[in-house]
Amino acid sequence: MIPCSTPLAQYLSHKPEIDLAVARVLDSGWYILGEETRAFEAEFAQYIKCRFATGVGSGTEAIHVALKACGIGAGDEVITVSHTAVATVAAIELTGAVPVLVDVDPVTCTLDPRALDEALSSRTRAVVAVHLYGQAADLEAISAFTRKHGLRLIEDCAQCHGAEFEGRKLGSFGDISCFSFYPTKNLGCLGDGGMVATNDADLASQLKLLREYGWAERYVSHIPGWNSRLDEIQAAVLRVKLRHLDESNQARGRLAEAYDSSFAELPLGLPARRAGASHVFHLYVVTSDQRDELQQWLKERGIGALIHYPVPIHLQPAYVDRLSRPGKLQVTEKLARTVLSLPMYPELPSADQDKVIEAVRDFFKAH
Ligand SMILES: *Cc1c(COP(=O)(O)O)cnc(C)c1O
Repeated sequence: MIPCSTPLAQYLSHKPEIDLAVARVLDSGWYILGEETRAFEAEFAQYIKCRFATGVGSGTEAIHVALKACGIGAGDEVITVSHTAVATVAAIELTGAVPVLVDVDPVTCTLDPRALDEALSSRTRAVVAVHLYGQAADLEAISAFTRKHGLRLIEDCAQCHGAEFEGRKLGSFGDISCFSFYPTKNLGCLGDGGMVATNDADLASQLKLLREYGWAERYVSHIPGWNSRLDEIQAAVLRVKLRHLDESNQARGRLAEAYDSSFAELPLGLPARRAGASHVFHLYVVTSDQRDELQQWLKERGIGALIHYPVPIHLQPAYVDRLSRPGKLQVTEKLARTVLSLPMYPELPSADQDKVIEAVRDFFKAH
């Protein structure tokens, strides 16, 4: 079976370094918020060129903490997309705010700025821009909108570690940016983890308080917080993986180019690349009206292609009663029927990629 992605491959390719890092933490006797987390926060902040970075428990928690640090809660509205991981919307609801879901652009699959005006109300407080599949949302248009209306801009960077727009790392544009280190992400740990980053010192101090019971010093809560911490083992692993992030993103880029050129003649929608942006190919997503047949064809040939995402959030059982927007999310609903993610991870052997390419070509010969 050729998987869509596998974090085991990356562990194995850096096993000696990772094993040493984990052993160092185990032997230190300090497992939560210690030297490894502090060092990783500093190294990550330096990497994306943000002044402050704070480790948290997951990507979902990163968005939750970020919105709370902005003072967003019940009675507020936050605009984002329905074509994203459910975590984006779940995190907004955790704060008590109402997610207002807008459509995406059919070419980039990211938030369509033309939908923003209609979604704005007197309760709108923020926009969560999701940099989907590995490249930037339309930051120029979205940040012009948030500036014009005095809204917070939160970047969901769970799929774009290391990607850039106009020469600057994603995660350095918004008021706060949110990263996930779920194992299959471009920068992934060996469990759950996340990060919030900002250039604003006041927001940074709120973020630090919120992630640990509102504590400025031990046992004294200055604001009501909770527990969302990055642990030392994950931080130590992430320090190793951060050193290899650029090379693994380059490997993804080479795989993407090989797919692009092999599929150029096929009746298959290929991933668009935004002008001025780099693409780090968290996922390599093609589109086809014969998506289901293609996925089944690949499955029968031992190839695991997945759908990101099969049911738009506004149509999922947990959300449909509150978040449905009849007729307003047509691109999102169409993408749910047409997108397919082909195997993409930095260590994907080229012989395996050749099998995927062969199988996709054979599909279109037979159909
Ligand atoms: C993975 C992901 C998240 C959530 O991250 P977790 O660490 O799994 O909580 C949020 N947003 C997007 C776009 C994601 O892909």
